[in-house]
Amino acid sequence: MNEIEKNIQEIRAKLPENIRLVCVSKFHSADSIMQAYNAGERDFGESRAQELCTKAQNLPSDIRWHFIGPLQSNKIKQIAPLIYLIQSIESEKMLSQINFCAEKIGRKISVLLEVHIAEEKQKHGFLKSEILDFFTQKKWQKFPFIEICGLMGIATYTTDNEKIMQEFHVIKTLFDELKTVFPNSNFNTLSIGMSDDFPLAIEQNSTMIRVGSRIFGSRN
Ligand SMILES: *Cc1c(COP(=O)(O)O)cnc(C)c1O
Repeated sequence: MNEIEKNIQEIRAKLPENIRLVCVSKFHSADSIMQAYNAGERDFGESRAQELCTKAQNLPSDIRWHFIGPLQSNKIKQIAPLIYLIQSIESEKMLSQINFCAEKIGRKISVLLEVHIAEEKQKHGFLKSEILDFFTQKKWQKFPFIEICGLMGIATYTTDNEKIMQEFHVIKTLFDELKTVFPNSNFNTLSIGMSDDFPLAIEQNSTMIRVGSRIFGSRN
């Protein structure tokens, strides 16, 4: 058994069956992806549009590609036909751009809204108040070619587990609250948990974890 297979097996052993594993393959080779693929994995996460496109064109077509990084508006068109789930939606502007591309190619695109839960100043994602506003004012109606499937969050990078738990709890509570105001059965994904904190995310009812370095090794 190779290293990647072994790492995946270790993670899967800790993962309840109803939680999905996204193997974050950014900066890693097609070869590494194929090792994970051959171990049975089908969900892979990338953070750069060009890298995702190149990999998608050269790797098996049953791979589900997730986009998890900052997405420039001029790259949306590139990934639109290939993408399974865009997890890193940070603004309504981005939603309208994606909606526009999706309509053009005649498919619905599934997304998660990224919520800013970490304390780090570098702000990614919607504020909790903006998200609440978005749903209570039914702003999703403006985007008929987008399927909003849930929320994504990144906790503060810290060894303070208490803090991480608190941040995951904030997004989990928000997720539960939104399910009561957003009448869409596809709104069912809470993407929290990475290499260092996925066991904590599982405790907070994560439905999808995104693991990179613990599977593929460090990215240099
Ligand atoms: C890189 C990245 C991951 C994976 O990080 P690891 O710590 O290597 O598991 C998960 N989510 C997002 C949004 C990322 O950018």
